[in-house]
Order: sequence, then structure tokens, then C-alpha cells
Amino acid sequence: DPQLNANYTFDNYIEGDCNRLARSAGYAVAAKPGGTSFNPLMIYGGVGLGKTHLAQAIGNEIKRNLPDKLVIYVSCEKFCQQFVDSLKNNTINDFVNFYQAMDVIIMDDVHNFAGKEKTQDIFFHIFNHLHQSGKQVILSSDKAPKDLAGLEERLLSRFKWGLSADLQIPDLETRIAILRKKMYADGIELPNEVVEYVAHNIDNNVRELEGAMVSLLAQSTLNKKDIDLNLAKQMLKNFIKNTSKEISMEYIQKLVCEYFEVPIDMVKSPTRKREIVQARQISMYLSKSHTKSSLKTIGAFFGGRDHSTVIYACQTVEDLIDTDKNFKGYVHDIQKKLKMT
Ligand code: ADP
Ligand code: MG
Repeated sequence: DPQLNANYTFDNYIEGDCNRLARSAGYAVAAKPGGTSFNPLMIYGGVGLGKTHLAQAIGNEIKRNLPDKLVIYVSCEKFCQQFVDSLKNNTINDFVNFYQAMDVIIMDDVHNFAGKEKTQDIFFHIFNHLHQSGKQVILSSDKAPKDLAGLEERLLSRFKWGLSADLQIPDLETRIAILRKKMYADGIELPNEVVEYVAHNIDNNVRELEGAMVSLLAQSTLNKKDIDLNLAKQMLKNFIKNTSKEISMEYIQKLVCEYFEVPIDMVKSPTRKREIVQARQISMYLSKSHTKSSLKTIGAFFGGRDHSTVIYACQTVEDLIDTDKNFKGYVHDIQKKLKMT
């Protein structure tokens, strides 16, 4: 199938909390297309988070398990274009018959149906035909069905029939794993600290993450230089929006909470749970040493506390750094990450 890209497989689709449900639902569908309750399977999420990769992986996996199945992958945009062409050429029946003959249809980026009523009507009929015959429909979209604008209600209601699973931004460890996998596939080696630096600083989308690595390699080839951390920092300046920015309390809060695996909002809450108190105190301590914020501002930021609470937190952290080796290590680790910005 020319529409399926063999490079997108489950094998090279790294699993993480960010994609667990979507990935496993996709896997189930690939084993039994049309035979699960995930019909349609709707994968949604922002740009560059892996919708196309996962949708293609499902298609490839189906062809691997069940080579006789007719699988079509089509972007919504292309489908719309084909429809317009078929109107023009009087081949609308061929167009509809082609899609209705499929065992599996994978349609990418269905948010692009917005405003295209006639194409939506045609797809509505194709969808019903396939669904009623126990065929599998897989969709991707940049928003959850309930948030899709410009789509007809009856089509949207179909989209909600099966399972909608979202893709989130991968966490740091998953981002590192994605980079490692990509490096391995391309036969590239980079120092660990460079990989970690890139994964750390590019935290909004996987496409950019990979793009940063590609640009790094390109520049290193051009300059005939091996990449070390300093060079990576220099080279990635354009990619990383934070480099010139000052460290913010938000960022400290995010790093500390990620490090201790505590929910980010909790440090601002009144809770006295030990690990939360610890995360809060370290956040305050780092805010005092790494930002220009006043004690009063820091207290207010971390849950409306007063400046004496901040003084006490800083004192506590300093004492613990002196007396508790593990604790010292935690603070050190987080500081190291902070300085990577
Ligand atoms: P979207 O369609 O959501 O815009 P893509 O599927 O095009 O995103 O993904 C962008 C890039 O990121 C692709 O190169 C893809 O292979 C890669 N990617 C995304 N998520 C993962 C993942 N979990 N594991 C490995 N690569 C991923
Ligand atoms: Mg895509």
C-alpha cells in the first residue's frame, strides 16, 4: 500500500504515560480490526505528538497480521480533494465504492472536515456502510470529538461511538527514550548529557525534539566537530526558547514536582504531607537562590504563604543539605537540571 509508510511501526513507537491508552487500544484494534468495541478508534492530540505515527503503525500492523485485509490510509485533506475531483469528473460512484470496499479506513486529521458539508455527508455514508459491515474505522484529530468545531452533529456523534484516546506531551524519560530510539535507528551516537540536555529543553512536541537532534547532527557534520554539551547548547540556541530567559518560579516548581513525582498543583495547596512539604520547601529555596523574587513574592507564589514561611523553608533545606546526604543529592540533581536552561 503506497499510502502506508513502513517506517511508522509499533516497534519504534515508544510507550509512555503520554500515549498508553491510545497505543494499547491501537494494538488491540490491529489484532482484531472491526472486532473490538473501539470502532471507531479516535486518536487525538496536538501537533507533532505522534497521531500520524500511531495511526500508520496500526495500519502496518494490520497488514502484517492479516495481509489480505484492504487497508487505506488517507488524510482528511486528500479525501476532500478526491471528493471534489470526483464531482468534477463525474466519478462519484467510483469514489464511494472504492472506500466502501475497504476493510479498514484510517483517516488522519479529521478536524479538516470543518466547514466542508458535502464531503462530510459523503463520509457519513461511507462511515455507516463500513461500520455496519463490521469494518474498522480509525480517525485522528487535533481535538477531542466534543471540542471539534465545524463538524455536523450526526458525524460527530458517530465519532464518539467507539473509543477516543488522547496523546499528551511525553515526560522527560519518554523523550529521552524517543531520542535514543531514533539515534539507534539512524546509527548515531551522542553523549548522554547531550541527549538529556535536548530532551530536557524541548518539551512541547516530539517533532521538534527530533528536529533539534537532526539540526545538531547537521551542524556537527558541517563544522566537522564532535558534539559535547557546550557545543550542543550553542547550536540549539535557536531551538530552545528558554536559553536567554531567566529561571522562573513556575519552572522551578515544574522541575521539582517532576523530580519528586508529585502533582504540580499540590505544592501550592495547604497539604502537610511530607513529600509535598519537602517539594515546596525545596522550590522556595531554589526560588530564593535562582530568581530575583522577594521572600514575599515567593511565599505568595507557593500557595499564599508569608515571608517567614519562606525563611523557615530555606533554613530547613540548608540544614538538611548539611546533615542528609540523600537530600543533598536531590537538591544537587535539581540544581543541575535548572542550570541546563
Ligand atoms: P502528529 O501527526 O500528531 O502531528 P507525528 O505522528 O507526525 O505527529 O509525529 C511527529 C514525529 O514524532 C514523528 O517523526 C514520529 O515518528 C515521532 N514520534 C511521536 N511520538 C513518538 C513516540 N511515542 N515514539 C517514537 N516516535 C514518536
Ligand atoms: Mg499528523
